[in-house]
Amino acid sequence: MFPRMIKLRFFFAGIVVLLLSGCSKPVPPRSEFVLATICAIDLYGNGTPQVYHDVFTRLREIESRMSVFVEGSDVDRINKAAGVEAVEVHPDVFNVIERAVYYAELSGGAFDPAVEPLVSLWGIGGENPRVPASEEIERVLPLINWRDIELDRGNKTVFLKRPGMALDLGGIAKGYAADEAAALIKKARIHQAMINIGGNVLTVGEKKDGRPWKIGIQDPMNTHGAYIGFVQTGEKTLVTSGVYERFFVADGARYHHLFSPSLGYPADNGLLSVSIIADVSMDADALSTAVFVLGYEKGRALVESLEGVDAVFVFDDRNIYPTGGIDFTLVDENYRVTGN
Ligand code: ADP
Ligand code: MG
Repeated sequence: MFPRMIKLRFFFAGIVVLLLSGCSKPVPPRSEFVLATICAIDLYGNGTPQVYHDVFTRLREIESRMSVFVEGSDVDRINKAAGVEAVEVHPDVFNVIERAVYYAELSGGAFDPAVEPLVSLWGIGGENPRVPASEEIERVLPLINWRDIELDRGNKTVFLKRPGMALDLGGIAKGYAADEAAALIKKARIHQAMINIGGNVLTVGEKKDGRPWKIGIQDPMNTHGAYIGFVQTGEKTLVTSGVYERFFVADGARYHHLFSPSLGYPADNGLLSVSIIADVSMDADALSTAVFVLGYEKGRALVESLEGVDAVFVFDDRNIYPTGGIDFTLVDENYRVTGN
């Protein structure tokens, strides 16, 4: 009698669970404007409102610490204390700056988080971008030097040695944000997700049918979301730096937002975009900017020197060069895949 009641209880409890799970609709994917871009998270029906909420709260937290535009952010405080004193920052910020300096060194200064004076001189991302006079550029160039960023790991402080120096983490922070979103999603035991932080794409787990993910590479000549092709991959990240993301036109010439820190001008080397495929989105983000600025030969050599890192280079003559370790499929016949 007694065991039978227990069985019945389980039976009814089971029905209630079934009914409840049957009634609760899968939570749809969510996108919001954070980190000055569109952030889209898709948990493929396995996400709860709480997980989505936590992920976007984390993204906003990262923005509030790392944006140069947010008054009082850690980066803002570092910049305001340039030439004066070291500033203690949150470990998030310290880690990203440390990694940024690592990539600055690795790329021989092609990637330089101290690029901010150049970015604001050109007014990139602001209301009135302009081509500065060459004397103005000459004046700020000595300030763009990652070697003048002093880091104290024990005290988590950052000191910019010269007055007028300033950091801009725009080339790396979105990658870090994508990694942090993935960490939260995994912690919530969700095994399948697509994270897209303004073009920094990161996949979590496997697709439901066990097939590889397909991550599109945007057509750099068409800003309306058209893809030139896609990369098939397992759990990886794909980050693109391209001339189309932020640019302005003056006297018929186009100027984009990826600067050569040694010349003070947008890097002009025939590339329209560089996509990096790697395991860690922060690394891929820094590398996409670094490799774009380095150009094809040096950039490809850098990519090939790194384990588990691949790249797709897209040129203005519509030639595409993928490196050897990836599965790239072209879909736009206006382009050609030229070599490996
Ligand atoms: P996006 O942010 O458009 O996705 P990137 O990741 O390549 O593309 O970052 C570009 C941003 O990085 C610029 O808007 C600027 O803030 C910053 N930046 C520009 N040139 C450099 C550089 N040489 N090194 C480091 N950061 C740079
Ligand atoms: Mg980048």
